[in-house]
Amino acid sequence: MKKIEHIGIAVKNIEESNTLFASLFGKPHYKMEEVLSEGVKTSFFKAGPNKIELLEATNPESPIAKFIEKKGEGVHHIAFAVKDIYSEIERLQKEGFTVLNTTPKKGADNKLVAFLHPKSTNGVLIELCQEIE
Ligand code: ZN
Repeated sequence: MKKIEHIGIAVKNIEESNTLFASLFGKPHYKMEEVLSEGVKTSFFKAGPNKIELLEATNPESPIAKFIEKKGEGVHHIAFAVKDIYSEIERLQKEGFTVLNTTPKKGADNKLVAFLHPKSTNGVLIELCQEIE
């Protein structure tokens, strides 16, 4: 794994949170993107070299809706950039981690993504992401 690519935060109302995080960072988000397959609307902020992704559910079946129902708003996942997501998935499976989608899927921000089940990572949802070239 190369580095933390971003931290994902589940929010109830992305417009309100855009305003909140814009005042926190002193600048507005730089893009918004809807990921239909995941049922989420995302918004991205930069704080120095770091990236924050806000996620709002677009339907009640969305993983974000379920997360907020159970735990409320807050940190949802930590995403790590990887060089080769396919070999990383294979390596982590061999190490005993539960990979939620063994076939990477297209996520927000032009990335291929895969998630590790929080049960296998001390309660933290881990996202692997690889830039699509
Ligand atoms: Zn993410």
